[in-house]
Amino acid sequence: MNSLEYKELRSIKAAFDVKKQQYQRLQNDIAALSDLLATYPRQISVQQEKINAEQAAIYDGSVSSPKVLAAREAQLAALHEGLARLEEEQRLKQLELDQKQSAVVCLKEEMMEQYQSFHRVKELYQAAQADRDSRLAGLAEKKAMLLQEIDPKTLAWYESLREKFNGTPVARLDEQHVCSGCHTIVTPIAYKRALLGKPANCEKCGRVLFVDEN
Ligand SMILES: [Zn+2]
Repeated sequence: MNSLEYKELRSIKAAFDVKKQQYQRLQNDIAALSDLLATYPRQISVQQEKINAEQAAIYDGSVSSPKVLAAREAQLAALHEGLARLEEEQRLKQLELDQKQSAVVCLKEEMMEQYQSFHRVKELYQAAQADRDSRLAGLAEKKAMLLQEIDPKTLAWYESLREKFNGTPVARLDEQHVCSGCHTIVTPIAYKRALLGKPANCEKCGRVLFVDEN
């Protein structure tokens, strides 16, 4: 759980979740923009019809005075302005939609890359895990074999003291006669006994001492 691969997996997952949220937001924006853009053709054609009607009214000969003509032309100009505004709005919304759609494409690629690296790291993680498991199994097998070589009495004694000595009831003496359990120098007699393979205990910590002649 604390392995590098596991931490990497978690950070990739977190980055992926951020992208996923961005992706969802973009998709929502795109849906809203698409709905909005779908309304423009209708708005534009209504505006165009108004312009056509106004133009027809100006040129059908029914306008009687220059004052009325000026008013209708002003009205026509305002309608044209409205049309231009609608078209500009449509253009900008379309641009926004295009940008968001290409952002979605990029985001998808990035998510795909993250997904692939997640799987790569996951495979490494699983391989490391399998390696640990097989080494543990090997050690367990080795331990079982070694346990068979130890007489039951000694083993029982060892197990009974294990907890008391924090897992190490037996201590090795080095050339300087230092106990590997408590790091003090033992008496020459204790060293001599341990060297000869006779029962010897550290006077300070009580561990059973041995000398490794290799
Ligand atoms: Zn000791």
